Amino acid sequence: MSLLSVIIPSYNEEDNIENTAGVISGVLKAAGIEYELIFISDGSKDSTYDKIAALASVDGAVKGVEFSRNFGKEAAIFAGLSLAKGDCVSVIDCDLQHPPKTLVEMYRLWEEGYEVVEGIKSKRGKEGLFHKMCVGIFYGIMSRLMKMDMNSTSDFKLLDRKAVDALLSLNEKNTFFRALTFWAGFKTTTVEFEVQERAAGKSKWSFSSLVRYAITNTTSFTTAPLQAGTVMGIILIIFSVVLGIQTLVKYFCGTAVEGFTTVILLLLIIGGSIMMSLGIIGHYLSRIYEEVKGRPKYIIRNRTDNF
Ligand code: UDP
Ligand code: MG
Repeated sequence: MSLLSVIIPSYNEEDNIENTAGVISGVLKAAGIEYELIFISDGSKDSTYDKIAALASVDGAVKGVEFSRNFGKEAAIFAGLSLAKGDCVSVIDCDLQHPPKTLVEMYRLWEEGYEVVEGIKSKRGKEGLFHKMCVGIFYGIMSRLMKMDMNSTSDFKLLDRKAVDALLSLNEKNTFFRALTFWAGFKTTTVEFEVQERAAGKSKWSFSSLVRYAITNTTSFTTAPLQAGTVMGIILIIFSVVLGIQTLVKYFCGTAVEGFTTVILLLLIIGGSIMMSLGIIGHYLSRIYEEVKGRPKYIIRNRTDNF
């Protein structure tokens, strides 16, 4: 019989572990699916890992690791992928915002021969208006740049062993799981799910982390911003030609050039665009620097013995 590995990234989720494990186990048992639950405590500062370890000691299907510090959800997902033994592997949030019954649906599609099953949000759960607006803007820009609909895609997916191995063979350190499965290809299908309300605790996203997330993920998937400097340069050149012609005409007509404000304005525009282009180049340079250092994505401090 085939084994399903369920990866559950958990950061400060002490109030959710037991319940989440119970609910997912219940759903999978009822569907007659053999499974293992792999909790990744992403450097939690509360008793998340203790809760996982306690569960693991009574239930052989529950396994867990703890990172040495908070490395982020991406790192947690990839740690899970490399530890998973299943013939298919799925990733699900610890807060039950991804409905576990959809897991069964995904598994059935996998049995039919699909190698990547993408969870698509049919509608976003209840979020604050401000949060919703920010998310809307970021996903809008990211989707346009990356040519993928980032608003409805999620980390909730089920992958065949082949797809998992393909993702694990990537050398890059800055991964973006949500988009990488599209990039990897394979026989793909989608399943819609309705985002539920968080079971307990609160979301780990702040405004600044959302901005960082948008920038790093966009730049890890597209080099379009690098071309922004070129575009700005072309616009400025056209602008200066027009301005030059106008100045010459005025000169020959005998009107003096009243140009002080124009000069200041031009200086500001040109200076601004050069700085911005340099900043964008600098950002990519720093990304290259990080990749070249080749540090591991995560460090594991502790793991349960049943791996
Ligand atoms: N998470 C994580 N590391 C982090 C932040 C979040 O492993 O640094 C986990 C978190 O425990 C949860 C999932 O990622 O299982 C989604 O996080 P959250 O619910 O805070 O995000 P949201 O649902 O609000 O987008
Ligand atoms: Mg959540």
